[in-house]
Amino acid sequence: MTFLSKRINNLSESQTIKMAKLGRELTAKGIDVINLSFGEPDFFTPEHVKEAAKKAIDENYSYYTPVSGYPELRKAIVEKLKNENGLTYTFDQIVVSTGAKQSLANAVMCLVNPGEEVIVPTPYWVSYSEMIKLAEGETVFINATVENDFKITADQLEAAITPNTKLFMFSSPCNPTGSVYSHEELASLAAVFEKHPNIYIISDEIYEHINFVDKHASIASFDAIKDRVIIINGFSKAYAMTGWRVGYMASNTEIANACDKLQGQITSGTSSISQRAALAAYQSSLDSVVEMKNEFRKRRDLVYGLLKEVPGVKVNLPDGAFYFFPEVKEYFGKSFDGKVITNAEDLCLYLLNEAHVSTVTGEAFGNEDCIRISYAAAEEQLIKAVSRIKEALAKLS
Ligand code: PMP
Ligand code: GLU
Repeated sequence: MTFLSKRINNLSESQTIKMAKLGRELTAKGIDVINLSFGEPDFFTPEHVKEAAKKAIDENYSYYTPVSGYPELRKAIVEKLKNENGLTYTFDQIVVSTGAKQSLANAVMCLVNPGEEVIVPTPYWVSYSEMIKLAEGETVFINATVENDFKITADQLEAAITPNTKLFMFSSPCNPTGSVYSHEELASLAAVFEKHPNIYIISDEIYEHINFVDKHASIASFDAIKDRVIIINGFSKAYAMTGWRVGYMASNTEIANACDKLQGQITSGTSSISQRAALAAYQSSLDSVVEMKNEFRKRRDLVYGLLKEVPGVKVNLPDGAFYFFPEVKEYFGKSFDGKVITNAEDLCLYLLNEAHVSTVTGEAFGNEDCIRISYAAAEEQLIKAVSRIKEALAKLS
């Protein structure tokens, strides 16, 4: 479509959103689709958070908010970072946005000049590469493999750095692999960044609370590089608030001011009601978060056991988030009813149409041998889904 800008023509559609959309379309036709494509908790937002939102409506929190968010919410975020993460920020270093997605986009837009390199370990979260494209940056991928639990080493990082490197961008716990970097592993990456003072680091910590191994470790905890780290976090995952659209970043004041300026020209502050709800979430105990995490751990163990029994599917045990990222390349080249499965996308479409289970192609996350399966669904749905997947795969020859 030539009348559209090159910017939008070059942009790929989000595969997570596309697969969720295809799943919804089949559901609307009356088909019993199990949606394991979209990464969102299936739990309800905690009651006290919902109550705070209702109260905010009654109390007329209906006006524009400061672009970076209500000061009391930003102060609660400062307290959270101090108490839970041992990190010191001031409230003017916090920018609240319409989800962590906007916080990520803000940071990329404010840091990357056309042609500058951004290092991204693969597999990565689907929107990173497209945000970098919008900023006209060059993405440099580092391959993390299943053998190394999908984590990169300091040597790999060092080898990817050039004089043109501006930014490094990663998530831990990771979407799509569930891998969690330990404090020691982050220390080895931080030591590399210490030697390269012009590189900034976006640390996407949105799955912080869905971590089954250790206490969450943040790369911002290394003082020598903290000033160059942009922490991204939000309420979507920990508080089951995906639709409320509240995320935030914490960074040095210059970057925070730049993001405030950008946001002030594009969206302004996020919803006043959602911000009041988010404040209630951070002012309460972590009980609901811990309960949800324990439930996710049970489901992870369940699905791991089931997936290991599916022939041709190579799976690792994720330490966090709520995804499996199994290798499925053994099925490429096989066919059903005359239709050949050439890649992971074909396999996902086959699973959607044949097994009525929606998943996402690994290609969207930078690994074409895998597919992503979200286990943010009820146990009986998960059991049914894996059994359907197994049955459908067995039909391929
Ligand atoms: N980062 C990662 C790694 C994610 O999986 C997601 C998806 N929720 C986001 C950021 C964006 O989250 P939000 O709903 O806060 O925009
Ligand atoms: N982050 C979730 C996912 O990875 C939600 C979808 C999206 O925002 O792209 O599925």
